[in-house]
Amino acid sequence: MDVPEPNLLGEAAPAIFQTSLFAFDSVRDFEEAVRQGRPYYTRGANPTVGLFETQVAALEGAEAARAFASGMAAVAATLFAFLRPGDRVVATAPVYAGTHALLTGLLAEFGVETAFVPAADTEGILRAIPGARLVYLESPASYTFELVDLEPVAAAARRAGAVSVIDATYTAGVLARPLAHGIDLVVHSASKYFSGHSDVIAGAVAGRRELVDRLKEPYMLLGAKLAPFEAWLLVRGLQTLELRLARHAENARRVAAFLKGHPAVRRVHWVEDDPLFARYLRSGAGLLSVELADAEAARRFADRLEHFRVGVSWGGFESLVLPLFAQPRVARAYRFPEGLVRLSVGLEPAEALLRDLERGLEES
Ligand SMILES: *Cc1c(COP(=O)(O)O)cnc(C)c1O
Repeated sequence: MDVPEPNLLGEAAPAIFQTSLFAFDSVRDFEEAVRQGRPYYTRGANPTVGLFETQVAALEGAEAARAFASGMAAVAATLFAFLRPGDRVVATAPVYAGTHALLTGLLAEFGVETAFVPAADTEGILRAIPGARLVYLESPASYTFELVDLEPVAAAARRAGAVSVIDATYTAGVLARPLAHGIDLVVHSASKYFSGHSDVIAGAVAGRRELVDRLKEPYMLLGAKLAPFEAWLLVRGLQTLELRLARHAENARRVAAFLKGHPAVRRVHWVEDDPLFARYLRSGAGLLSVELADAEAARRFADRLEHFRVGVSWGGFESLVLPLFAQPRVARAYRFPEGLVRLSVGLEPAEALLRDLERGLEES
């Protein structure tokens, strides 16, 4: 939807169009609104949601963007828009648990087959692409943060006539430029850094207008619309996105360095150590994973932390810890080591977080 930025009285923060419909004085006016793609029912278009969409498109350097009720709604609408029974998908692994469940569950039942290839296995991805309808990437990958070599993969998808899609939630439209590397569509869970305050569930997809327009049908018919108030909170969150990301990254860098030097830690998965980091990312953000000896060590560590509370999701102001064995479907699907623990490093003072981690790793 292209709706001009609403500004009624010079308000500094945008007004919220908290309305389900728009009414007109005549049938002609109504017809005119429909023809021009102006809002008439909020399930389809709303100016506050349109403002968020415009901002996401600008962040990603895209022609158009569409907002969704959740990241999963954005992922699902994208997959249902481009896939039909008999089609094949190439997906990188790991991908977000919900996406994995959608591909291996509902979409498999509808006759869509998915080949999963490890995100860092560029040759394997390239070999799998011919004959695929859609190439689904996540970079950095969920949980372990490997980067995908986007340029050759995007080029191979284009040659094969496949749509390339990337879930770029981690890079939040700021830390990477996936469209500039040739990817067709960028999917986001806006529940993470876009929101930044752990108070919104939302999603978005950005890309060329012709492709984003293909999402209209599933968006309308699956009722995946974003609420105006949530869109307004997101517009508010985006004002501080770059500042927050810089602080998240600064804190996470210190956390990664501390953990790498600790004898109880087997391995740290921190995106700035990836061999493709300099090519594709401006900076890391606040997410990393750490491998401890076993599930018992992971449980003790998570329970002892005070600043890092135990919780799913990430990207908010507060630090969180999640031992992945506590998400059995994810852990089983990817055969993660039992001691793998994800940390979402928040905006707290770094010294407090480091003290907390040190205490969490002490021998009991
Ligand atoms: C959280 C997340 C999703 C799903 O988003 P929701 O807003 O929770 O539906 C998708 N992809 C990634 C990488 C995520 O972290």
